Amino acid sequence: MKCYKNRWVSYLCVAGIIVGSFGLSACGNGSYNDVGSNIVENPREESKAEASVFAMDTFMTITAYGAQAEEAVQAAQKEIEYLDQLLSAGSSESEVGKLNQNGAGMCSADTAYLLERSLKLYNETDGAFDVMMYPLMENWGFISGEYKVPSQETIDKLLPLADVSKVSYDPEQREVQFLENGMKVDFGGIAKGYTSSCIMDIFDQYDISSGIVNLGGNVQVKGKKTDGTDWRVGIRDPKGEKEYLGILSISDKAVITSGGYERFFEENGVRYHHILDPKTGKPAQSGLDSVTIVSEDGTLADGLSTALFVMGVDKAQQYWMEHSNDFDAILVTDDGTIYVTEGLEHKFESKIGKAHIIRQKNK
Ligand code: ADP
Ligand code: MG
Repeated sequence: MKCYKNRWVSYLCVAGIIVGSFGLSACGNGSYNDVGSNIVENPREESKAEASVFAMDTFMTITAYGAQAEEAVQAAQKEIEYLDQLLSAGSSESEVGKLNQNGAGMCSADTAYLLERSLKLYNETDGAFDVMMYPLMENWGFISGEYKVPSQETIDKLLPLADVSKVSYDPEQREVQFLENGMKVDFGGIAKGYTSSCIMDIFDQYDISSGIVNLGGNVQVKGKKTDGTDWRVGIRDPKGEKEYLGILSISDKAVITSGGYERFFEENGVRYHHILDPKTGKPAQSGLDSVTIVSEDGTLADGLSTALFVMGVDKAQQYWMEHSNDFDAILVTDDGTIYVTEGLEHKFESKIGKAHIIRQKNK
């Protein structure tokens, strides 16, 4: 069974309901989990399988425990390779790449599912999450690595193309059409979370009750460790001064972090990072250094980590108040203040200083 089908069903069923939990954010370089020590103590060592793969511009590892661990990890690897080839925005061979070249086309079920989730997130986040930022990403040089600050004239010209409300989409036929020339879609803000969700479905199919995927610091865990304790995931300190911002103890959750430190360049002493504010076409300057989302739904966690980073701390808190059953969050502002939503109060152990707990006002 393809993972989007599972997701689709649960997505429809839980619409408007809260599933929730909160996430960890792991770090691009140096996410922490104690799976290593667990392996040493694990009496069922022979039932462990592990694989590493480079895809979606990042280094990924998959670890599973169970009688069918090897098969599960192989299937997960295939899924990653399939989604990488499908979703790569710049490739002339991928489905998304062809859509970008032609400005129209039919979508596979996976792409259609991601587009539908992205449209929903766009509407719910007041446009903070917009999968049509690609022409701007190209002009800032984030795709080629030849970084440059575009002129205001260029930004003004490209901004009207960065608007998913100008995508015509027929869900029955899975048919997409961009309504202006030059529009391009890019699922970079949500694809890794979707991929880890799909791997959780694969784990289910192979009866894996304990497993972890780390997609370049975006982590999703199945169940608990084989010793019955929670997985422990290190959240990166966005300033890079300490090894970790803190450690999150979780089970059955995705922990996904967005931060301005992940991809950036500096020009004339100014830092420009890869998360763009769709309202300005420029790197979001929201006062947040990083956002970690914790949720059972990896796709949601990835989309929201990007969206809440764009929103800034006040809007992000407000958003959580209205959707607190769907996710938890750790927000770090540029002055180093840490905010943690109440679902993580006893799960997040700060290594830097006391975290402020965000609570529902009506409690
Ligand atoms: P990362 O993929 O580095 O972990 P994110 O999940 O925050 O970080 O995704 C950032 C990527 O999302 C960018 O590289 C770009 O492809 C895309 N993107 C940038 N700004 C936005 C935005 N406002 N909404 C949706 N996607 C975005
Ligand atoms: Mg994201």
